[in-house]
Amino acid sequence: MAGLFAARVLSDHFQRVTVIDRDDLSEDTEFRGGVPQSRHLHQLLMRGQQIMERRFPTLPDDLRAIGAPSLEWGINGIVATREGFTPPKPTGLRSNTVSRSALEALIRRRVPQRAGVTFSGGCTVTGLLTDSTGTTVTGVRAEKRITREAAEFTADLVVDAGGRRSDAPEWLAALGYERPSRTMVDAHVGYASCWFEKPTYMPPDVPIMLVKADPQSGRAGMILEVEGGRWTVILTGKNRDYPPSDMDGYLEYARSLQSPLIYNYIRGAKPLSQVYGYRNTNNVWNHYEKLTRRPEGFVVTGDAACGFNPIYGQGMSVAAMDAELLDGLLRGWENRPLTGFAEAFQKRLAEAVRVPFALATADDLRQPSVEGDIPRQPWVLKQIGLYFRALIDVTDTDAVVFRQFVRVMNLLDAPTTLLKPRIVWRVMRYYLGGSRRLSDHGHLGVTLSPAAKP
Ligand SMILES: Cc1cc2nc3c(=O)[nH]c(=O)nc-3n(C[C@H](O)[C@H](O)[C@H](O)COP(=O)(O)OP(=O)(O)OC[C@H]3O[C@@H](n4cnc5c(N)ncnc54)[C@H](O)[C@@H]3O)c2cc1C
Repeated sequence: MAGLFAARVLSDHFQRVTVIDRDDLSEDTEFRGGVPQSRHLHQLLMRGQQIMERRFPTLPDDLRAIGAPSLEWGINGIVATREGFTPPKPTGLRSNTVSRSALEALIRRRVPQRAGVTFSGGCTVTGLLTDSTGTTVTGVRAEKRITREAAEFTADLVVDAGGRRSDAPEWLAALGYERPSRTMVDAHVGYASCWFEKPTYMPPDVPIMLVKADPQSGRAGMILEVEGGRWTVILTGKNRDYPPSDMDGYLEYARSLQSPLIYNYIRGAKPLSQVYGYRNTNNVWNHYEKLTRRPEGFVVTGDAACGFNPIYGQGMSVAAMDAELLDGLLRGWENRPLTGFAEAFQKRLAEAVRVPFALATADDLRQPSVEGDIPRQPWVLKQIGLYFRALIDVTDTDAVVFRQFVRVMNLLDAPTTLLKPRIVWRVMRYYLGGSRRLSDHGHLGVTLSPAAKP
């Protein structure tokens, strides 16, 4: 996704743009090995969707055409906790639900329609080409996957969007440059996903059902309806409490969540896939912005620069934000050599990922099994952390706090907006005697036990 977004904006600045991928990109395949995460639920945040719609104006029609459901946050979702269902809360904030593969296929169809963009699939990049001084990257070395034939691509600018498994640190090291330092935070979060046919006993207009994380066990789950009348269902655990990837164990795990909502809906549903597990969910920030020496003409974007615990669904949206930065910065380098561009881009990207990284790691850093680079939190930050935990409870019942929280988690507003007096006041009021009234049954006809199970 980061590579496609980068290609889209680069086509405004360069005559030729080549997208190289180790997978064959000629077909809209449901699954390809280069993105193992595509078997898992991908929520598209509003920030990402807004950027994509600006860059690909046909996207809303394309999503409609494939039958991707549309939802209003707080209305078309059902949220369950141990005590019951949270009440509906109108927000006016809308987005679509779509599988990762289908979204990627839509974008992938549009990108080569831009003048000068070509795809070179089935080709693995193996290293960087430089000029004779070794100070400027002039292209990449690659190998065709099937024939193992060597290939070279020359370019004024090389953008690595190789994802979590990017080899860019090794490519730099092979040229005599330092590898970037990295910040890693791992709370040992595990996913297990299974796809189901949306059952006929499901009420309409409920594309999302969520069982919030159990405060004790940390287990959570979510059903997301995507195009084609399918459900993608994830179960998640933390602190190495990984959900099993056999069907019996998967259902048992679903039953152990703090609400039986998901279990009750999936146990009668028809599975369309096996259960897939995924554990490579740590937060990894490769600090390309801190390199003291770097070659010109080479930048790193998307997960290759900064990958997040995927629970908060930020990766694709941050990849889109990275591309916006690329575009904005290239405008300042129009008609002049790209000297200094790589450093400027990585510094801007580092500023942009700071907030999503903080959001993604905040809860992970509190987990007992957390490993990696654990910063010492000053007292004030600890108090703010406690405040945010309290605030999350308040979102269950307070429409104003919920709406602002949804805006922050969708990367539309800064987290500091949750410290505004009117929000702080509502959180305090709740704790000073507000009541927490959850409902026995969800709105839109969702009940704990679906009425007409086969
Ligand atoms: C389990 C899971 C769930 C997720 N859920 C969400 C979600 O709900 N919402 C969300 O927004 N994000 C989610 N993400 C994150 C999201 O998948 C990524 O952030 C997003 O795809 C951007 O990644 P990327 O484009 O940088 O890398 P990727 O999407 O991983 O793509 C990397 C590409 O580079 C290619 N490649 C790699 N190395 C080479 C090479 N040497 N030569 C040629 N090609 C190469 C690969 O084939 C692949 O096509 C999730 C991630 C995981 C792991």
